[in-house]
Amino acid sequence: MENCIFCKILKGQILAHKVYETDNVFVFLDINPYTRGHSLVIPKKHYQDVFDISSDELQKLIVEVQKVAKLLKEKLNAEAINIFQRNGIMAGQQIDHIHFHVVPRYKEDMVKMLPRGVYKGNDFEEVVQLLTS
Ligand code: 5GP
Ligand code: ZN
Repeated sequence: MENCIFCKILKGQILAHKVYETDNVFVFLDINPYTRGHSLVIPKKHYQDVFDISSDELQKLIVEVQKVAKLLKEKLNAEAINIFQRNGIMAGQQIDHIHFHVVPRYKEDMVKMLPRGVYKGNDFEEVVQLLTS
């Protein structure tokens, strides 16, 4: 896809530090990492997000996400791993080429996740009703 930064990385037009690749998937270091070793896992074909990608491609991607998580934990001595993925501007997606973030966590790394909320009134029941009907 023209003008996609990650497609440009795949074509070698923008430098990225490869962790490894398969026939379908490319793994590289995030340029602005949450922590040391923060990696991005992308399909070699351009899909915008989780709504766009085929389930077949997504399966290939998630298997590599698991491998990267194990790699980072072992090679970088991470205490734990966060895996996340954004879909849409409101979710904070900056690059419209689906990618999984794999973030090694270390003691006292100071990375903060979003604060938790609470359901109010009948909202919880309404959500359950909407999702299960
Ligand atoms: P998003 O916010 O879309 O979930 O994540 C996009 C990620 O891509 C960000 O964490 C950002 O640091 C990373 N990123 C953006 N441009 C580049 C780039 O040119 N090279 C690399 N390696 N990472 C990038
Ligand atoms: Zn792309």
